[in-house]
Amino acid sequence: MNSIIAVHIKANLLRPLLRFMKAAVLYKPAKMEENPLKIEQLEIPKIEDDEVLIRIKACGVCRSNLHMIEGDWLDLGVPAKLPIIPGHEIVGIVEKVGKEVRNVKVGDRVGVQPLYSTCGACEYCISGRENLCNMAEITGETVDGGYAEYMKAKAAHVYEVPSNLKDEEAAPLFCPGVTAYRAVMLSEISPAKSVAIFGIGGVGHLAIQFAKLYGAKVIAVSADEQKLRIAKELGADLTISSKSDVVNQIISLGYVDSSIVFAPSDEAVFQATQVTKKGGIIVIGVRANLNDFRFANEQIIKGSVIGTRVDMMNVLKIASQGKLKVYYEVYQLEEINSVLKKLKRREIRERAVLKFSAE
Ligand SMILES: [Zn+2]
Ligand SMILES: [Zn+2]
Repeated sequence: MNSIIAVHIKANLLRPLLRFMKAAVLYKPAKMEENPLKIEQLEIPKIEDDEVLIRIKACGVCRSNLHMIEGDWLDLGVPAKLPIIPGHEIVGIVEKVGKEVRNVKVGDRVGVQPLYSTCGACEYCISGRENLCNMAEITGETVDGGYAEYMKAKAAHVYEVPSNLKDEEAAPLFCPGVTAYRAVMLSEISPAKSVAIFGIGGVGHLAIQFAKLYGAKVIAVSADEQKLRIAKELGADLTISSKSDVVNQIISLGYVDSSIVFAPSDEAVFQATQVTKKGGIIVIGVRANLNDFRFANEQIIKGSVIGTRVDMMNVLKIASQGKLKVYYEVYQLEEINSVLKKLKRREIRERAVLKFSAE
């Protein structure tokens, strides 16, 4: 090839921002050791009339992204398309709006949660439980998500981000934040009640804070000493190592009114049923099995998945009052395969957040 033409082509490839964006793309689920995400230049998505284009500033890295990328959830139909751009806890700036969009304008800072869109007409949507909508699209699982410099989103499912929060501290509110909030609400706690929270990671550390804001007595259970220290800092009344005799330690102080399980472990679910009062509530927010359930205790088991738009808005309102502390570590998009490997090896102590600097 003529070298002048070659230089010209190269120069164009190096100037990607007008039409192209950098993105981490999954073509085929595979173990992280194979570095399944490819960093590529893709065309910036075109928006429909009810959509917005977002220039992404930050995107959290969720353990569920890891499960999808490694193919753990193929039996659940996730990912629903390939190739796909993962990522579902996003903060960015509105760059373009479709003709029908009224709720946000160009320049607004917004967030996107896993619930990408809903039908608006089914029994769940009209009863304020749209997180259960059968037609729901899930960010980064059924449609492209936030491991990219740009994404498009449905205007009806974007949220204004409070100005007191940095991009990278706001991003985790859009998955761990809303997931923790809904689980705590479903546990029906109040100032006179106690709750045991199993699993103190990205979600659990926020659940402790919501439960304390609602006045409950909180017991935090984790295998990780550092996470238990964080739990204590965040106001947990009692912290217990899951390597110890969790059940006897808790019941020697009295059965709890409710338990919330974010630790992906059958053992944690079983322990939750053991330490919760008769007639109490056990909220399960992870994939785990419930074994040896004692029906005679009349406990109530509830699943909890992400959250509704009202849940999300409540989380942002609480965060806008400076009442939430989000623990996070910042990385670049190019590091995504190594970040996910670290997450797999449980070497990420706080929420990993990808930070973007594209202008
Ligand atoms: Zn998530
Ligand atoms: Zn619906």
